[in-house]
Amino acid sequence: MTFSVRFWGVRGSIACSGPRTARYGGNTSSLEVRCCDRTLLFDAGTGMRYLGNAMDGEAPVDADVFLTHTHYDHVCGIPFFRPFFRPSNRFRLWAGHLGAGMTLRRVMDEFMVAPLFPVPPQVFRATVDYRDFTCGKELTSGPDVRVKTIALNHPDGATGYRVEFDGRSFCYLTDTEHVPGAIDRKLAKFMEGADAVVYDSMYTDDEYPKYVGWGHSTWQEGVRLCKAAGVKKLVVFHHDPEHTDEMLDGIGRQVEKELPGSVIAREGLVLEL
Ligand SMILES: [Zn+2]
Ligand SMILES: [Zn+2]
Repeated sequence: MTFSVRFWGVRGSIACSGPRTARYGGNTSSLEVRCCDRTLLFDAGTGMRYLGNAMDGEAPVDADVFLTHTHYDHVCGIPFFRPFFRPSNRFRLWAGHLGAGMTLRRVMDEFMVAPLFPVPPQVFRATVDYRDFTCGKELTSGPDVRVKTIALNHPDGATGYRVEFDGRSFCYLTDTEHVPGAIDRKLAKFMEGADAVVYDSMYTDDEYPKYVGWGHSTWQEGVRLCKAAGVKKLVVFHHDPEHTDEMLDGIGRQVEKELPGSVIAREGLVLEL
């Protein structure tokens, strides 16, 4: 049974175009996970526009969209996602990082609002259900697809996800900061034995001291966590917009030495789990 992950946006913080980032891609977070006939989307950054264009020809779409959080780089593709404008489509939008007193529906109403944006979410013609949950809760996307969640360490909160299907598993852990020198045991347990782990690798260990408290981690921490959790494939993700293709090539060579079989996320990459 198919269990695949396709990357439509891999960049952190802000989209970046131009020749220096063309090979890995400049769009922000957007992943498409297929579990046989179920479609799960993770985050809704600028990459989601391209995903939507590709899905637009499909028969009625029924999909879950799991947001790590609602910082701009993870939601700004939403108003440009064509399938939201087709009445035959059905979506469930999930968020687990919002505290009491705030809902995803309200965040969307305040995000797509004049004078920041010309039209409100009511322009969507698809059925869009907004689903708030508390991090840590286990969700499902169809009877055979389990979606576990965990709170990450990020300003305003963020949710990490683990998808389990047909005896395989995949983790999506972005926008999280580590504590230097101390493996996050809770996160390592959450990742345990996963077939692939996408991890916030915004910085290198050398760069990190300048960005303490910004809510991001390093590819080296990703390697340490994967080793602690018995994970063989790290996917280096949420690239700093200042990291050029050449720099990412260099990180790719280093990560291959540290944890062979790992990859640097790039637009168009497909992992078959
Ligand atoms: Zn981000
Ligand atoms: Zn963020």
